Amino acid sequence: MNYQAPLRDMRFVLHELFDVTGHCQQLGNGLDRETIDDVLEEAARFAAEVVAPLNRNSDEQGCRLENGEVTTPDGFAQAYKLFVEQGWASMTGPLAFGGQGFPQMVSANFHEMLMSASLSFRVYSGLTEGTVLALHRHGSEALKARYLGPLVSGEWTGTMCLTEPQAGTDLALLRTRAQPQADGSYQLSGSKIFISGGEQDLSDNIIHLVLARLPDAPPGIKGISLFLVPKRLVNADGSLGERNSLSCGALEHKMGIKGASTCVMNFDGATGWLVGQPNQGLACMFTMMNDARFQVGLQGLGIAEAAFQGGLAYARERLQSRAITGPVAPEKPADPIIVHPDVRRMLLTQKTLSEGCRMLAAYAARQLDLEHGAADPAQRDAANRRAALLIPMIKAFFTDCGQEVASLGVQLYGGHGYIREWGMEQLMRDSRITQLYEGTNGIQALDLIRRKLLGDGGSELNALIDELSTQVAFATSHPEMAERVSQRLQEWRALAESILQACRRDPEEIGAVSVDFLAYSAYVMLAALWLQAAVRASEALQAGTGETAFYQTKLQSADFYLRRILPRAGAHREALLAGASCLMAMPQSHFAF
Ligand SMILES: Cc1cc2nc3c(=O)[nH]c(=O)nc-3n(C[C@H](O)[C@H](O)[C@H](O)COP(=O)(O)OP(=O)(O)OC[C@H]3O[C@@H](n4cnc5c(N)ncnc54)[C@H](O)[C@@H]3O)c2cc1C
Repeated sequence: MNYQAPLRDMRFVLHELFDVTGHCQQLGNGLDRETIDDVLEEAARFAAEVVAPLNRNSDEQGCRLENGEVTTPDGFAQAYKLFVEQGWASMTGPLAFGGQGFPQMVSANFHEMLMSASLSFRVYSGLTEGTVLALHRHGSEALKARYLGPLVSGEWTGTMCLTEPQAGTDLALLRTRAQPQADGSYQLSGSKIFISGGEQDLSDNIIHLVLARLPDAPPGIKGISLFLVPKRLVNADGSLGERNSLSCGALEHKMGIKGASTCVMNFDGATGWLVGQPNQGLACMFTMMNDARFQVGLQGLGIAEAAFQGGLAYARERLQSRAITGPVAPEKPADPIIVHPDVRRMLLTQKTLSEGCRMLAAYAARQLDLEHGAADPAQRDAANRRAALLIPMIKAFFTDCGQEVASLGVQLYGGHGYIREWGMEQLMRDSRITQLYEGTNGIQALDLIRRKLLGDGGSELNALIDELSTQVAFATSHPEMAERVSQRLQEWRALAESILQACRRDPEEIGAVSVDFLAYSAYVMLAALWLQAAVRASEALQAGTGETAFYQTKLQSADFYLRRILPRAGAHREALLAGASCLMAMPQSHFAF
């Protein structure tokens, strides 16, 4: 597969759909259009030339564990070195600790490129950025001073150690213990599983953020604290000291992302330090959840884009049968399969889902930036509410799209899609984890209903629908498209209201409707964005900017999405209106009959 970053579409979204330079001015970071475009061009080169060529081999070779040391696939260590040296690792890090402070609206594009190029490679740096965020927000000044610099630069990497064998979704069950020491440190003991990047050969030190219980902690989630536990202890002058009492016990053998080490981590009285307040560990993790889940959503988008590019290249080359209306390439033994309507259905589904998710990613990234960087506290609060509403959709819907689009990639290649050499089956295997980690997609859907919809009685959702409806009113150039979107927006509002009432009457409705409601919401949200894209494209065509094919393609894509993809929302609506009774009626013991 020959991945090339979709720079033109990224520029459309950033500059034409959302005013990214205005956004940057508002954040006060001084980034102008030229700088943003230059950075993304360099980023595209890095993703395509340095990272993408490693992806196939990383899948074949995987990671190896020998004498407690993990070796990543060939080329990862060199590529990671470049990633750090060229400053890509520090792109989003805080300025005060040597970072470049790029807004998410810009950096999300680079991260999407990395996900497309190699999900495995991106796992290491993605978790490091999460570690930086958690430490920056919740760490003491002393911890920040000692650890943040090398984490921000990428010299050291970070991990998130939450999961234990008996504690996955339900972290209330976790057992790892932290024993206070006289010098203010803690000794951590316990075993964590599935820890991404828990051990590797990319960085000199690995900083683990570990959830554990203090001796006097109350049971359940109110008794969990967060600790920083380095692989190698760090001396007062910042130099590396002795190895801490922790080790990688095993590597998981898994379906995909084989280049990313997934480790069993054993903490045997390892020295650590409290991050944030005692028993507030889960709350600390929650404050960075929007960002972490957004990143996993980008993984889905990155995979989708890669699968679309692979599918398109093949559909143009592969010769099978003639077009039903007569030969399109009479000089060849058969026509390229892109002439067949069903092949076009697959390609357009891939294209419109990928581009639709890219628009929503930019919309959400703007909220994440404002949540952290707006000068006005009221604006920060508003952005936080909007981001919180959108994030479960982004995490679950994007990753579901990633899996669907990757599966279409396999389908487009026919039997060859099932064969390793074309890369489609790897994308499908790699993307499958994105629907599971960082909270399964089922849990995202519960979050959307329970915390976001029931949490405020639907007011933030209604505010979003109001905003989108205002945009629809401006879409006078496309009355038919506008009507389709407008109907769905009204339907969305009514559906949310009826769900609220049903869930208040019967709590089992929450889990019964959640997945369909999330999908419904995301399809409608994307429809509203596709309408905005169509309006911008028409304006550009009228202005005669000279890129007629690009803008006509946008109009045709919007038309396809609204007529061929948006109807899926109707099926989700119908399914969820069936409610909980048909799920709960069957006794557990009858399932096997
Ligand atoms: C490759 C890989 C990398 C990972 N990286 C990390 C990492 O770096 N750090 C880390 O801490 N963890 C990591 N994980 C763990 C991952 O986050 C968990 O696997 C995930 O949160 C799900 O937990 P579980 O596997 O125990 O599933 P379970 O919680 O047992 O869930 C099983 C099923 O039940 C459903 N379910 C559970 N509870 C409910 C409920 N209340 N309502 C409805 N449905 C429910 C789930 O949706 C799921 O379908 C990783 C996992 C893998 C496979």
